[in-house]
Amino acid sequence: MADFKPLAPGATIGILGGGQLGRMLSQAASRLGFDVVILDPEENSPAGRVSRGQIVAPYDDPTALSVFGDVCDVVTFEFENVPAASVELLAEAGALVAPGPTGLAVAQDRVDEKTFLNAVGAPTVDFVAVDGLDDLMAGLETLGTPALLKTRRDGYDGKGQVWIRSAKEAAAALASLGGQPAILEARADFTRELSIIAARGRDGTIAVYPLGENRHAGGVLRTTLAPAEISPAIERRAHAIATAVLDGLAYVGVIGIELFDLGDGDLLVNEIAPRVHNTGHWTQDGCVCDQFEQHIRAIAGWPLGPTAAHARIEMTNLLGDEVGQWAGVVAEPDQRLHLYGKSDARPGRKMGHVNTVRPLK
Ligand code: AMP
Repeated sequence: MADFKPLAPGATIGILGGGQLGRMLSQAASRLGFDVVILDPEENSPAGRVSRGQIVAPYDDPTALSVFGDVCDVVTFEFENVPAASVELLAEAGALVAPGPTGLAVAQDRVDEKTFLNAVGAPTVDFVAVDGLDDLMAGLETLGTPALLKTRRDGYDGKGQVWIRSAKEAAAALASLGGQPAILEARADFTRELSIIAARGRDGTIAVYPLGENRHAGGVLRTTLAPAEISPAIERRAHAIATAVLDGLAYVGVIGIELFDLGDGDLLVNEIAPRVHNTGHWTQDGCVCDQFEQHIRAIAGWPLGPTAAHARIEMTNLLGDEVGQWAGVVAEPDQRLHLYGKSDARPGRKMGHVNTVRPLK
């Protein structure tokens, strides 16, 4: 948007979603002098508690969206499953929404996402759209087994997906997804999972952080090591992918791109998240300008900040009752604790994270 005037401190930024990503965005925004208002149906949300205010309402409540759009100069979001109709209502209320609706729409549907990625030259595994058993059987024929069946929409942290090892398992696998529209993916034969956190400003400039190497357990991120040890060729490839995706979406803000490293010099994109990303939390203690400030800078029309790492970080998520480790963490001089202010430590719930800070090699 060429005629966008940078937002001055004192302006109000709206965040749809009051979880930990919204909280850390809000903290970054307030340090830069902005007011932040959260929209989240849950009262007293982690982000609401550190912000100027929170509107407690469902994400599709037209009255709430209209008030929210009215009080905010820019609206952004901390999760990708924001109803498209809500974004339209916000735009009607005069709010500028960033990233825009294209990034959201693409990231909400795994088939659209992979179609877009391949079109801009960011390769993915082979896939087929599955609307019923006939599609699935044909897909298994084409892609071979094992193959991974996922819901097209609303999947996260490994939920809504099932491996199919032989055609005999097809009907049961489809039934386990409750008959939702699905995608069948060929198995990626990867040696490790990497991710790239990048940003695009309102003027089209792009800034890319060093890559992170990620370890998951049970579909949930456990640790990120960054900067990852990668060859210059892989780095160039990852940067080319990030640039193609950001330009292809005319994107404004921070994006997370999950990659499979095939170990032979090739990278495939697993998925994109049109928001700040758990695998970018290392930037809080490894970079002068972290992903949260970077996102606020981008949506406010400010120049993007530096992305070089000044430390090597191991980021570990604190899940469920692991949050009880906080006292030990704060006693360690090289560990920085980030807690989300959640009271109910349900098993597997992301309660906080720890960045262990080491010198750059
Ligand atoms: P997703 O919800 O798509 O991020 O998938 C969760 C995890 O499942 C990924 O981080 C991978 O470890 C694994 N995974 C997803 N898709 C594939 C695939 N096509 N082949 C192999 N592993 C996959």
